[in-house]
Amino acid sequence: MGSRAVFLDRDKTIVLPKGGERYIYRVEDFHIPDNFVEALKQLVDHDFLLFVITNQGRIARGHLTENDVHELHECLDNILKESGVHISEFEYCPHNPRGTLYPYNIVCECRKPKTGMIDSIRGSYEIETSDSWMIGDSYIDMLAGKKAGLRTVQVLTGSETYSDYADFVERDLVKAVKRILEER
Ligand SMILES: [Zn+2]
Repeated sequence: MGSRAVFLDRDKTIVLPKGGERYIYRVEDFHIPDNFVEALKQLVDHDFLLFVITNQGRIARGHLTENDVHELHECLDNILKESGVHISEFEYCPHNPRGTLYPYNIVCECRKPKTGMIDSIRGSYEIETSDSWMIGDSYIDMLAGKKAGLRTVQVLTGSETYSDYADFVERDLVKAVKRILEER
């Protein structure tokens, strides 16, 4: 019997842009509301493994570096750890075929809606797919989740409209977690 897991998109799902910023590139660009941290803690308390999977294709356009991504993940990890939230893996895709920066400007297998990041995590952890979920703000998260056999919750903290691939649509991460715990 494998573990249940929640795969989490990062930007505009578990972290929000600070102030009027549109994108989250570096540590100073993001914040995480206290009730989002508490929601993640609830998942941990219900024995879900947590994985962050994020497209960072703007690396391929030169807007940020892999080092920026690592720094942000370390900072986020430290904030979450203080509240007893353990993220098992932070996975990111730095690619974008329309980018300009070699070697990132390629067609890869990890950029969502492809399932490469989920597949690689599954190679390292025994995960019970039927009892696992994807939470994200974008249709590409919902599509990736569905292709991987997960149930999906779309949150409306991004700018996107409802996706056909979402099993549920909720206002934010807090409501999404409530939904998952109710559905169990
Ligand atoms: Zn990739």
